[in-house]
Amino acid sequence: MNKKRKQTPACFDPAQWAARRKSISQVLIRWYHSIARDLPWRHTPDPYRVWVSEIMLQQTQAERVKDYFQRFVTRFPSVFDLADADESVVLRHWEGLGYYRRARQLHATAKLIVSEHQGKFPQEADALRQLPGIGRYTAGAIASISFDLPEPILEANSRRVLARLVQYDRPLLGNKSDEPLWDVAAALVPRNGGAGEFNQALMDLGSIVCTPVSPCCEKCPLANQCEAYQLGVVDRIPNVAVRRSTKKVHEKAFVVVHKNKFLVVRRQPGEWWQGLWDFPREIPKQITVRGRPRSLGVIDYTVTNHKITCQVSSILALQRPAARRHQRWLSLPEIRKLPMTSPGRRIVLLAEKKLL
Ligand code: SF4
Repeated sequence: MNKKRKQTPACFDPAQWAARRKSISQVLIRWYHSIARDLPWRHTPDPYRVWVSEIMLQQTQAERVKDYFQRFVTRFPSVFDLADADESVVLRHWEGLGYYRRARQLHATAKLIVSEHQGKFPQEADALRQLPGIGRYTAGAIASISFDLPEPILEANSRRVLARLVQYDRPLLGNKSDEPLWDVAAALVPRNGGAGEFNQALMDLGSIVCTPVSPCCEKCPLANQCEAYQLGVVDRIPNVAVRRSTKKVHEKAFVVVHKNKFLVVRRQPGEWWQGLWDFPREIPKQITVRGRPRSLGVIDYTVTNHKITCQVSSILALQRPAARRHQRWLSLPEIRKLPMTSPGRRIVLLAEKKLL
């Protein structure tokens, strides 16, 4: 994989890379055209679609995002449609993508773009960054892809490519540690057209060729220019922090039933999946139950670095007290229509199988 050669000092002086801008961007854009990945958000430079796709792609791989993106923009074809929608409908269309805070923020920002910008996205990266949920990366992506402005981007894939290209071997530990790579990205992005293609090419190269483990350097269009490859240190770069260790958690969930109506609760601020519906993790105090809980099964799921094993049980309620603000008594078909957490949806399946 790596050619061996005598190690030389790291070289990440942006001015030096700016001098190679033309040759690097040309070869990279040519490669980008040759692989021609058909991703639905690339069919148009519409900033609304670029924005939605970039938010979806923040925690999810492109192949998985494709269908979600298509469904989302079919239901909300413009920023006006998204701003007009009820939050529960937006969350329903986000279901399965996880990290629901993104969906809520997308919705809130759509309202702001409509109320304060007449539905038009600002064109400059700095103005885009004033919008909630749009950080440096997303602003650079929208400005370069939609408006062809020479704005850099840096996310996991492009950061890896650039770190190896310039042999940036310092630890990448968050905060400002990747600032020199932003400078290199800014030095390389084309000035006279093609900024969006260049940025997308960088991300694709990181995702397809310059992978975290066993990159295909022999097939890489940048192999001749890549310092890490030439020095034989690809497997040491990027120098990233160790992942947080996984925590094992055991919890219980209850399917509380009264005459074919089931109690569901809405996740509150500060909880995972805020705003989505789920089955309670404890029996609410105002409910009197009959008999002992009956096991319906066990489900496993992961949230951030928590690996959760959840024992699901059903229990009969003696009466149905008036539901409180964030509770509802509903039939299973009615529950299916709610925006639900992914474990909640699996509990519905268990209840249908074991109780109906
Ligand atoms: S030569 Fe290898 S390490 Fe360098 S950019 Fe290409 S794939 Fe990445």
